[in-house]
Amino acid sequence: MGWNLSLPSFLDPVPPFYRNRYGVTMSQITDRLHPKQQHSRFWQNAHLYFDRVYQTMHLDEAWRAVLSSPKRVLTVSCPVRMDNGHIQVFTGFRAQHNNARGPFKGGIRYDSSVDRDEMMALAMLQTWKNALVNLPFGGAKGGVVCDPHKLSSGEKERLTRRYVSEIMPLIGPGQDIPAPDAGTDAQIMSWVLDTYSMMVGHQELAVVTGKPVSLGGAVGREEATGRGVMNVLRKFLKTQNKSLADIKIAVQGFGNVGFHAARLLDERDATVIAVSAKEGGIYNSGGIDIDEAGRYYRENGVLADFPGGEVITNEELLTCECDVLIPAAMENTVDESIAPHIAAHIVVEAANGPITPAADEILRDNGVTILPDILANAGGVTVSYFEWVQGLQNYFWEAKEVNDELQRIMERAFDAVNAKADEADCDYRTAAYTIAISRVAEACRVKGLFP
Ligand code: NAD
Repeated sequence: MGWNLSLPSFLDPVPPFYRNRYGVTMSQITDRLHPKQQHSRFWQNAHLYFDRVYQTMHLDEAWRAVLSSPKRVLTVSCPVRMDNGHIQVFTGFRAQHNNARGPFKGGIRYDSSVDRDEMMALAMLQTWKNALVNLPFGGAKGGVVCDPHKLSSGEKERLTRRYVSEIMPLIGPGQDIPAPDAGTDAQIMSWVLDTYSMMVGHQELAVVTGKPVSLGGAVGREEATGRGVMNVLRKFLKTQNKSLADIKIAVQGFGNVGFHAARLLDERDATVIAVSAKEGGIYNSGGIDIDEAGRYYRENGVLADFPGGEVITNEELLTCECDVLIPAAMENTVDESIAPHIAAHIVVEAANGPITPAADEILRDNGVTILPDILANAGGVTVSYFEWVQGLQNYFWEAKEVNDELQRIMERAFDAVNAKADEADCDYRTAAYTIAISRVAEACRVKGLFP
């Protein structure tokens, strides 16, 4: 249909100078950007990946703006009484991208580099991810600009409660359901639940996922993103007649996603030869004891002095000799300066947006297979979906049921992406985006425009 829709100026899609065959002019994208510029770049990257696929899909041009624009972004100020008696004002956001397929769903990030552009990019990715694994959710993301490692537990609780009260008009079990992301955890989700429940006057389990099991959380949610990474990689290797026992893996980021992915792969006989956190990592060609490294990292907050390996930088981790590289830290960690030096022939995007479009092009030209974020890290939101359903029904599942159903959904999504990649003779990211965008576009089309 011939609607004439255009983006508001603050959402100008991608400046023309960024475009080439894939919508990218590599020489125009500089490597070392200030974190704020990185996030503008991340938002532009999210558009580039979308545009690159949309233009091949023969959909109505008018829908391009609808599908790529966030529905709304709320910015809030959260004054918090700190332990020293001073009041500090924190800035928070909740970006809601598209809810054509169901209530918004997406994590809450606590990090000092959080900003509006980053939230919009992550919310958009979440829309495609939820559609790709066929969950009845739209995409959202929230965050607060803070360093969670520098806040006491009491400060974190007061900040969380104030942030939830500020975004209260947007969230709810049928509206928008937050979950953990980088810098947040099950304890913080408990405070989200309690604050919301106090304000509506009754306990509302289904308003947030990633809660502790003792408070209606799903068994297996904490490790679910890492488990999904393992499921997808194992399934891909089967198509290559290989098994996890054949491969050496390097994992960047040793938080919730990186640690559990490494642990579950290690348990299935893969050899994890390198892991890293923000300050650097460790390497052992014979394999790292992941449980021990995890214990050490939780106790010390760094990996560098862990005795079971030699110290390496994050750059050395990304370029080390391995079969599979798993970036599980933050966006934009694999850019065009590092991509030509990556030795792995498979990259699994456990983080959201770790590979820039320019790096993506270089890796594909070098024959590297990329299992894209919207497929590889969808395990977390999938088990969040189980948790939401359990909360609505007050009926709780056993671990086996959760893990089996997660595996079924991840493998189904991989099979769909694999079949689309074969049919269209394209890479996995293009295949995954094609499936996801067409599902969201179809939901938008049949709903029509209001009013
Ligand atoms: P986390 O805060 O638990 O851990 C992040 C880890 O990355 C830490 O070890 C940190 O030291 C490291 N890190 C941060 N910046 C880094 C850098 N520049 N270089 C190297 N290491 C760095 O976060 P998480 O929950 O594990 O999330 C990691 C990524 O996975 C994020 O992109 C997040 O959006 C994505 N993700 C998380 C979930 C989830 O369920 N938690 C689900 C889907 C996707």
